[in-house]
Amino acid sequence: MTRYVIFLLFTFIVQNSFAQVPVEQCGYRYEVERILQRQPNFFIWQDAYYRAAMDEYNQLQSDKRDLIVTDTEYYEIPVVFHILYNNANENIHDSLIYNQIKELNLAYRKLTPDTSRIRTVFKPIAADVRVQFKLATVDPNGNPTNGINRRYTTKTTFARNIYGSYTTDMKDSTKGGVRAWDPVRYLNIWVCDMEYPNYLAIVYGFATPPTGAPNWDNTGNVTKDTNDFESGVVLHYKVTGKKNPLSPLKYTEAKTAVHEVGHYLGLRHTWGDGTSATGCSVDDGIFDTPNSRYSNSTCTGQNTCNDGAGDKPDQTENYMDYALDGCAAMFTLQQAYMMRYVLNNFRKTLPYRNISSDTIQTPLPVDRSVKVYPNPVDDASKLNIHIQEPQSLVYSVNITDACGRQVLYRSFTSNQVFDIDLSGMASALYFVIIKDASGQIISKEKIVVR
Ligand SMILES: [Zn+2]
Repeated sequence: MTRYVIFLLFTFIVQNSFAQVPVEQCGYRYEVERILQRQPNFFIWQDAYYRAAMDEYNQLQSDKRDLIVTDTEYYEIPVVFHILYNNANENIHDSLIYNQIKELNLAYRKLTPDTSRIRTVFKPIAADVRVQFKLATVDPNGNPTNGINRRYTTKTTFARNIYGSYTTDMKDSTKGGVRAWDPVRYLNIWVCDMEYPNYLAIVYGFATPPTGAPNWDNTGNVTKDTNDFESGVVLHYKVTGKKNPLSPLKYTEAKTAVHEVGHYLGLRHTWGDGTSATGCSVDDGIFDTPNSRYSNSTCTGQNTCNDGAGDKPDQTENYMDYALDGCAAMFTLQQAYMMRYVLNNFRKTLPYRNISSDTIQTPLPVDRSVKVYPNPVDDASKLNIHIQEPQSLVYSVNITDACGRQVLYRSFTSNQVFDIDLSGMASALYFVIIKDASGQIISKEKIVVR
């Protein structure tokens, strides 16, 4: 084989690897493939409970019973976050976990300001799911907990490998993961690194749909979901929490978790996971999400399927589409009904019921101190900046003069003293502006150089 041929072959293999393993924001289909291996009747069962739930919904509607009035109960789901880390970045800050809980609550209670994104045609069917989330306060042994279970792992990644094989090792304590807390009583959310080195493969999240209804599989091989220690949600550490400083630009709104919890509570993708060819004939089983041919990555008013009379555009505002951050802002009334149906039939013991709607957990203040010193500072000496916080993160500092003109720009890492040489700077008043990686200002101080 000539060197040229070897080069071509190598190029082919590399390109093919990229072609076969794109970046994927949700691994739902892999999870379903895995379930189908042990429960071949999964789709039959899923279709049956979707029909049952929708029949119930339609019956209530035809009885003219307003669902919002007849079903006012709020559910609260205790959540445990298992943070699996091999390095400091993966050991994400408490504040990100708190604000992830907050974003889940804002989404499921229809309280997010993002509801302004919902187009008029969909506003009447945007639902308050009346499901809330709270970090667990008691662990499975009855001990107090903050609901955050941090574990060091020797594994550098939990990625699907480049050949596409799928891993649930993050849930297995013998394989570098951590075993679920009793899935009958907790929503388990594993946060770990799911990036294959060099971005050959990445999944931002996946979730286990409910399985294991009584009597649907007579093979005796049914693993009841409520006893299944793989039950829960897995998130890539870079897309967990709002304004995660490490998140890719499109994933800063913490909506991957909202989407994955939707799967966990029984929802399917709005386009029904059909292919481009079959897409308009494959539905998600929910009637108030318009048909769409494939997943949408933007919210520019596309309409990929004509549904005849009453046709509506693709509902890119929906959390179960792929447009997500920048677009997503709603679940529909029927999706809300479906999730509550799942909680009442397949995940019965999970939520606390009859709780007050005003108990939504709010984020903790960020445990961070910022010092800029000395002030005033001599023009021959150095200005020190020190950000102390539990996790080392990258910040930028911008020094401007009193008219807002940039004098100096640097980036630095927290938890070590960063010094800036001011020699030669004119004696004057300056502003020191520190921003986090998402561009949010975390400190702005006046300093005097003399
Ligand atoms: Zn998904």
